[in-house]
Amino acid sequence: MAVPKITIKKGREKPIRNRHPWIFSGAVSTATNAVDGRLVTVVDHKDRFLARGYWNSKSQIQVRILSWEDDAIDDAWWRRMLSRAWQSRAQYQAGAGLPDNHACRIVNAENDYMPGLVLDRYGDCFVLQAQTLFIDRHKDKIANILHAQFDAKHVFERSDIDLRRQEGLDQTVGSLVGGPPPDSLILNEGALYHVDIVRGHKTGFYLDQRRNRQKLHDLVQSSPSASGSPPSLLNLFSYSGGFAIAAQRDSNLRAVNVDSSRAALELAEKNFALNEYDKRSSGLSAEHIQADGFDYLRYCVGEGARFDYVVLDPPKFAGHKRQVARAARGYKDLNLNAFRLVKEGGYMMTFSCSGAISRDLFQKIVFAALTDSGRQAQIVEQLSAAPDHPVALTFPEGEYLKGLLLRVY
Ligand code: SAH
Repeated sequence: MAVPKITIKKGREKPIRNRHPWIFSGAVSTATNAVDGRLVTVVDHKDRFLARGYWNSKSQIQVRILSWEDDAIDDAWWRRMLSRAWQSRAQYQAGAGLPDNHACRIVNAENDYMPGLVLDRYGDCFVLQAQTLFIDRHKDKIANILHAQFDAKHVFERSDIDLRRQEGLDQTVGSLVGGPPPDSLILNEGALYHVDIVRGHKTGFYLDQRRNRQKLHDLVQSSPSASGSPPSLLNLFSYSGGFAIAAQRDSNLRAVNVDSSRAALELAEKNFALNEYDKRSSGLSAEHIQADGFDYLRYCVGEGARFDYVVLDPPKFAGHKRQVARAARGYKDLNLNAFRLVKEGGYMMTFSCSGAISRDLFQKIVFAALTDSGRQAQIVEQLSAAPDHPVALTFPEGEYLKGLLLRVY
């Protein structure tokens, strides 16, 4: 059966030739016989082939491109693409001295040229997120390939994301292969972490922050508190305590985890106990405080509190360009108060995971916050998501997580 054709308006084909994976409705001239959630061939106004992708008239992004070659998108294509993504992670894991069954992101959607598909792996347990109608229609096939080709024992779906509404889809969670995943899955990253695949955030864990947690650990190791007393960490938007758990390994650091979600803090408490930090006599401790991050920062400023380390890892404030101004105000408020709390010579790790806020803009917002705080700060390092979350160079929107490690005076 012939694949329906999408004709692009004259003059609108350049981003497609430059291999950007999204085609917005405004660039489409005609869409003869295109069916939502099915393949289309994209041609220019002279009927020359541009790309093959999939269509959804309900979404603002009407076409997501799967290939810029005249490829058949069949089972062999899926096996090839999944193998390629898999191989790149295996190479990276081996290079980093990690076991090849370690947790990692196997497919990072558009950035791995499989738009709409996110795939994370925790040992032989795989978690699939179908962000679009086309991927939703192919998820069983993908799960079966994972089972047959990559020894996946369980493939569990966590498609409980808002994005699906724009595709005309409901949220869905459930097993695709092998029944429900084990209740308690423990990830060993030096420190141990509970991963709750069924109920946790995202696919159970914020895999993207793993390398930054390790950096914080290394920093704490290399810079003992000047005063001789145990160093302190304010871990705002802590989720399951990831940054604190990493930082407390091999250290007597005291941590305060703050999150608005009770369930997240319960997981953080479980992680603290899992590492037997509670059994150590070094004075090491963790507080778990359920509060709004903005309010808690203001409260700390009012109390005149000071910390050696402050981590700010808020949720996404801007998913869309329209929300950028409001998000910028939010980031500025958080960073301003956070600067006020860092001890002289202490460190701050500040993040934005808003796709619509560029690295450049984020740095400007943090700069404005710094100026208002009257402090000084140096960029020690630019931070991003771990290397198993690569960003396609043709797709700047893929760089959602950006951060700064700052030394504050
Ligand atoms: N730093 C974490 C990930 C943070 S994700 C890690 O390393 O795993 C963002 C977190 O912010 C979520 O756990 C969410 O529950 C929390 N959150 C969202 N809005 C909040 C608010 N207004 N105040 C405090 N926490 C909030």
